[in-house]
Parts: sequence; structure tokens; C-alpha cells
Amino acid sequence: MKRAVVLSSGGIDSTTVMAMAQAEGYEVYSLSFNYGQRHAWELQAAERVAKALGVKEHLILDLDLKKIGGSALTDAIEVPKGRSAEEMAKGIPVTYVPARNTIFLSYALAWAERLGAADIFIGVTAIDFSGYPDCRPEYIRAFEQMANLALKAAVEGRLSIRIHTPLIEMTKADIIRKGLELGVDYRLTHSCYDPSAEGKACGQCDSCLLRKKGFHEAGLADPTRYVS
Ligand SMILES: [Zn+2]
Repeated sequence: MKRAVVLSSGGIDSTTVMAMAQAEGYEVYSLSFNYGQRHAWELQAAERVAKALGVKEHLILDLDLKKIGGSALTDAIEVPKGRSAEEMAKGIPVTYVPARNTIFLSYALAWAERLGAADIFIGVTAIDFSGYPDCRPEYIRAFEQMANLALKAAVEGRLSIRIHTPLIEMTKADIIRKGLELGVDYRLTHSCYDPSAEGKACGQCDSCLLRKKGFHEAGLADPTRYVS
């Protein structure tokens, strides 16, 4: 069976990507990071998802990006609430984590080489997204090129790395519909940047608003537990 490393945050996008990779016949190795994010809920969600989808192995790596800071997700910076779609479309928000996807993909690359897996999946989207530069197609293409120059297995011709971004042109509603078609249970997932102590979603951060909009546009009931 061909192996794939899938980056998993326990959210809608990465969970859907995982189901898509499995539907394409890949044996999935999911990778999550304990990187000093504000809360542990997303890691718990990633574990629930890995179990429910029956991945081959789920690896959680510890990276202390809190020591670097510079983001509302890892530092004492307030998570923006109640932003409109227009506001979200303008510029890169403070929830951007410096070089996060480059860091995550680099670890995925190391694990892929170790596993002999040519395929890495990441749930980035360039449609309903928050303006992060490391979610754009030109970035992904450049990373893939770099990867094939960086690995021993690639240089020796044994592995040709492909970075798969099956969601890149999908809206949140398309993603949710696709996942439901593949049997994904979105109750397992977590999206909120700033949940309550009990793990309820705030309903107002960009991630919550995009999630709500996705369910609304897909014409589906949102199974998320919100604070209000
Ligand atoms: Zn939220």
C-alpha cells in the first residue's frame, strides 16, 4: 500500500484531506504538533480523528513555538473576533504563526523520507482562508521543488516528493460536502482559535466564522458546540 503523510490539526480541512487520501488508496500517517498553541483541544480532536479514521500511525511532535511567539495563537496577543469576510480578505491577520506551514511541512518531509512515502497531504485552501501566505499555490509548488533537492532519497532517485493540496480551490462548503460524502463526522473536529475552558467554540474568531459560513452555505446543520 502506498503511504502518505497527512498534516492534521483536528479541524475540518485536514480531516477532510485525510479522508480523501484514504479514498485514493493511501495508508495514512497523520502528523500533529504540540507547538504551544493556546489550547490542547485541537490535539485532542486530532487524536479522535486519527482513531475514527483508523490511520496507520498518528505522531504528535512537540515544538515550542511559544518561545518564538509573534502570533495570537502562541503569544499574549488577543484573537480577533467578529470580523467580516471583507476584513478577513484584507491582509494577513495576527493569528498568522511565523513560518508555521514551512516548519510543519519540513517535519512531514523528514517523516516521509523515513517512511519511504512520496506523498504529503496538507489541507490548505486559497478560497475561504485567512490570508496566510503559506497557504498559497506558489508557496506549495516552491516547497515541493525544494523538497526534491533536499532529501537523500530524492537525490538518489528513490523518492519523488509530491505535496498534495486537494482543497486548494474548494470553498469551506465544498469541503464539508466532500467530507460528508466520505463519511467524515465533523463532530470530532475542532476549529476555534480561542475556545472556552470546557472546549466550547467561541463562535466569533475567523476560524469559527469560516466554519459556520461553510455549514450554512452547504445547507447543513453545524454540529459544533458554541459558547452562545
Ligand atoms: Zn472561535
